[in-house]
This record gives sequence, structure tokens and C-alpha cells, in this order.
Amino acid sequence: MEQLQFKDAISHPVFKTISEAAAAIGVDAYVIGGFVRDYFLKRGAKQDIDIVAVGSGIELAQKVAKLLPQSTKVSVFKTYGTAMVKTDDFELEFVGARKESYTRDSRNPIVEDGTLEDDQNRRDFTINAMAFSLNPENYGLLVDPFNGIADLEKKIIKTPLAPDVTYSDDPLRMMRAIRFAAQLNFRINDDSFHSIKNNASRIKIITNERIITELNKIMMCNEPSHGFILLEKTGLLSYFLPELTALKGIEEVEGQKHKDNFYHTLEVVDNISRKTDNLWLRWAALLHDIGKAPTKKFSKKVGWTFHGHEFKGAKMVYHLFKRLKMPLNDKMKFVQLMVRMSSRPIAVIDESATDSAVRRLV
Ligand code: ATP
Ligand code: MG
Repeated sequence: MEQLQFKDAISHPVFKTISEAAAAIGVDAYVIGGFVRDYFLKRGAKQDIDIVAVGSGIELAQKVAKLLPQSTKVSVFKTYGTAMVKTDDFELEFVGARKESYTRDSRNPIVEDGTLEDDQNRRDFTINAMAFSLNPENYGLLVDPFNGIADLEKKIIKTPLAPDVTYSDDPLRMMRAIRFAAQLNFRINDDSFHSIKNNASRIKIITNERIITELNKIMMCNEPSHGFILLEKTGLLSYFLPELTALKGIEEVEGQKHKDNFYHTLEVVDNISRKTDNLWLRWAALLHDIGKAPTKKFSKKVGWTFHGHEFKGAKMVYHLFKRLKMPLNDKMKFVQLMVRMSSRPIAVIDESATDSAVRRLV
């Protein structure tokens, strides 16, 4: 394969320091993951940088901290074999290259020391497995065993190993696939998509906190509907937000139909996302109609009704937040308030219901 070197990408002095530290303790070191991906996507300077050491990541972090011009604290996470060093510009996350093997009912793998290649094999996507060498003999060399560069160009989310292995080993990766597709406006490749569909139920072994972290990232995309449609189509959504999937579908009785409240909801979320980057206002939009599924009725006289759905919906917000381990403080109360008021046109249409007004409320 062609040898491509990207010294420019790692021209910041901190990379030279890491390189020197690695040479001093006799390990190879690489920048890996999001930093490399975002360099090629020109997504702007990244604050968090992942460094993999073929050897001890903790030892490398300690050596780096010693060589940095300012005195710097190292945060060591012994159980994970990782360490973090904060500089003025970056958060450097160090990990030793590892090989992972999984058992079926846990996302906690058996971890052994490994080579760079082992480490790249356990990464989630080809575009997240690329590394730049920090070693003196080939400084800046791109190590890209799964041709992540080509997938970046094709805008494709694809796993390095067979997708059933990658997703089943750590089902959180299914959420991450959709999150990256939504953030980067990429497509999930067909094999991956089918594999997520087949493995969707394995999301049950992932804690709600981790699911919500990814969900909030989807929520903060320019067009959150992109992610939610994928979550629905893969079957994942029903495992953690059944209140939303219950809004799906159009029923017809005696020639009278109601709208599909799921797709209507996603339109509202996209609309509000053009106006505000307030996460809780976006949540309010997502949940504004959840009371409609349990209050839906058909009567010959008036057709479809959803009486009291705002009040029902506001109550459901509490249970939903509690179940998903989301904050039960003023954020939740704000979402409840918005859901309760959501049928008053002024609350949604009034321009003042955007950022500044919300900042006062939240
Ligand atoms: P972001 O810009 O959102 O932080 P990122 O790619 O840096 O994107 P992180 O969650 O910070 O994402 O993870 C850093 C790297 O670690 C990823 O690029 C990927 O290589 C790897 N990674 C993270 N989580 C997983 C996972 N669950 N399975 C496999 N690899 C993972
Ligand atoms: Mg990151």
C-alpha cells in the first residue's frame, strides 16, 4: 500500500513531546481515532486526542507529563489501563494497545496487551481505526488497515471486523453507528445496517446512561430526525423510547385517518433544531405528543381525538426521565411544562420561545 505521511496534522509541539516520551521509555505511540478522522474531514481542531501506546499507556502519560513545559497532573484510571493529561490546548487520553475478547452477556471484555493491529481490530468503525505514527522512523505515517480513508470519501460507516462480531461484542456501537451517521451525514453500509437490526435486542445490556449520552449527541445534530429514523428502522428505539414508537402509524376508521404522530414529531424536532441548540427544548419537541398514544380515541361524531394528551404526556415525561436516569431537576420540569403547553399555539410559534427565553427558564 502507498505510504502516506501527514506531518502537518501533528505539527503541534505536544505531538513531538509525546514522541520523545515514547522513545524515552521504549514504546511505539500513535494518535488514533477521532483526531485522525476529523483531520481528514476538516472538522476543526479537536480538543480530545486519543493516544495508543504499544506498551503501558499509563507509563507513557506519566513520561509526557514530566516532559511538558508546565507541570501537569496525570489522572490515572487503573481499572481501564488509561490515563489523562490536560494541557492548555488538549485533553490527551492514553491507552495501552489491547486485544479484547468478549463474553455474551457483558460489555466488559477480557483485556490483554496487544499490538497496534489488535487495537485497531477492536475499534468501532473503519473511519475511527486510523492512526498517525508518532515514532521517529516514520513520523506522521498513516496506518489505515481497513481503508478508512476510502470510507471517509464514500461517507460510509462500516465496522473493521464482521459487523455481527463488532456489534454483538459491544452493542453500544449500534448507537454510535447511528450517532456518527447523523453527525457526519454518512450512510451506514448495508451489512452493518442489517447486523444492527439483527442485534438490536442486545442493547438491553447497555446502561441507560450510556444510551442517553449517544442519544443526546443525536439530539444535538443539525437534523436529529436523521438519527431517529435510523433508530426506528433498526428497531433500537423501541427498547429505550417505546413511548415514541407507539406514535407510529396511521389508523383509519370509517374513512377517517389521523396523521402519523411519529413522523410529525420528528418534523417538529427538526424545526425547533433550526432555531435553538438548547438540548431540553429539543427533548420537549421530541416528547410533546407522547400522550397521544394512550389517549387516542375514535368517535363517530368527531373522528379521532387525543383528549388531555398534554397532561398525560407531562406525567409520562417524569417516568421516562426516571427510567432513563436523566436529570429529574428543573430540566425535567421544563420539559414537562413545554409538553403541557404544547397545544397552545403561541408557545410553539412565538419567536420568544427560542434560545434567550429558554435560557431564562432552564
Ligand atoms: P468524538 O468527536 O465524538 O469524541 P471520537 O471518535 O473521539 O468522537 P470517542 O467516543 O471519544 O469518539 O472515542 C475515541 C475513539 O475510541 C473512537 O474514535 C474509537 O476508535 C474508539 N471507541 C470509542 N468507543 C468505542 C467502542 N464502544 N467500541 C470500539 N471503539 C470505540
Ligand atoms: Mg473523542
